[in-house]
Amino acid sequence: MRRPHGVVVASKNPDKIAEIEAVLASVEPPIIVIPGHQWDDVEETEETLEGNALLKARAVVAATGHAAVADDTGLEVEALGGAPGVVTARYAGPDATYDDNVIKLLAELEGFDQRSARFRTAVALVTPTGEELVVEGVLDGTIADGRRGEGGFGYDPVFNVGGRTLAEISTAEKNEMSHRALALRALADALQEGEG
Ligand code: IMP
Repeated sequence: MRRPHGVVVASKNPDKIAEIEAVLASVEPPIIVIPGHQWDDVEETEETLEGNALLKARAVVAATGHAAVADDTGLEVEALGGAPGVVTARYAGPDATYDDNVIKLLAELEGFDQRSARFRTAVALVTPTGEELVVEGVLDGTIADGRRGEGGFGYDPVFNVGGRTLAEISTAEKNEMSHRALALRALADALQEGEG
């Protein structure tokens, strides 16, 4: 893919935009994040994380005329056949809170010894000329029997990595090893290798 000089980040979450901006700034020559664009919310109707990331990036390209980066994350639990997967954000229903989702997950896994799980993030980059790149990042872990820790968000209090939940480690440490960080690093690597 021809490396774009700037991209719009297909997210309204300032933390996510900052995380993506930092990674793109590390590519040589740096890719800038173009601020100030608006677009209509995109419904995540695809059946895969990759599909939804592409859907969002394509919509933002169409709305802004710029290259766009979008991500989509899912929690995949082995004993549940990969659920909640693409419906991770709304596992307990369309208006589910983080708490509702965690309660449902713990209930579904009640009595299970096999608690392997992974977070997977797909990141898509789409350019105005229709070139598309999709990369992923994976963080393996297990689902705890109950919540532990006060930090993080979402499923962090029940996602164990190396004896601690993601809610028990610092944000800095999580941002080093997270599925999202790994996917963004893969994006930076792909862009670094690509032509300028
Ligand atoms: P999104 O694709 O980034 O919006 O993530 C979808 C859902 O996955 C979120 O609503 C959270 O429930 C969950 N999620 C994503 N990333 C994390 C994480 O780093 N820790 C815990 N939960 C996460």
